[in-house]
Amino acid sequence: IYDDGWTAVEQYLSDTVVRPDHALIDGVRRAREAGMPAIEVAPTAGKFLMLLAKIGLAKRVLEVGTLAGFSTTWLARGVGEHGHVITCEREQLHADLARANVDRAGVGSRVDIRVGPATDTLRQLVEAGAEPFDLVFIDADKPNNLNYLTAALQLTRSGSVIVLDNVVWDGRVVDADSADPNVRAIRESLEFIGTSADLDATAVQTVSSKGWDGFAIAVVK
Ligand code: SAM
Repeated sequence: IYDDGWTAVEQYLSDTVVRPDHALIDGVRRAREAGMPAIEVAPTAGKFLMLLAKIGLAKRVLEVGTLAGFSTTWLARGVGEHGHVITCEREQLHADLARANVDRAGVGSRVDIRVGPATDTLRQLVEAGAEPFDLVFIDADKPNNLNYLTAALQLTRSGSVIVLDNVVWDGRVVDADSADPNVRAIRESLEFIGTSADLDATAVQTVSSKGWDGFAIAVVK
């Protein structure tokens, strides 16, 4: 990945402004030791999610894609002690480490990790008539983005916020002829977000220790 100092700047901003504590830093270290890829959000983005939850006074958060619980920990901090985060993860190994990490971070009682394909978990939530979520963070397998967005619309209310991660994909998102299923799915989900009568949205490019990427953010009308 082309890096014009992004990683150094991310480190500086993280150290100076975000200041992740030991629970977060150790959680990421344990993920690396367990052989998990470095695909959790950057610390600046994690803190952004926490602030989004705080700004919106979110009490119920839904996350798709837990990995080792880094973004989950930020979100759980954002909802406060009476809040609740449901996070969906396909891999039992990831869920187990995430469980340990959120517990060690002192937010375990606010976090419900649902193991299995997220499309199943979301369908179960819809069928169970789950109370609307205030904030939804989608960060899993890109080919299912549209399924996750459709379910998110069924699981939210007017004013809820939906964040979709990794919408720039090293700039490849502009390649309309791409054969990459991730690129195709990202484009499809952005077109859905941009044209949905139920959403007011934008998308923001980012550069960080995670390279060139971005997120879409939408408010349910
Ligand atoms: N949100 C996490 C963070 O920032 O700390 C990172 C999530 S990582 C990018 C994506 C996760 O989604 C992986 O742990 C992967 O196992 C999980 N995943 C992929 N496909 C899935 C599916 N169909 N259902 C549930 N989880 C899935």
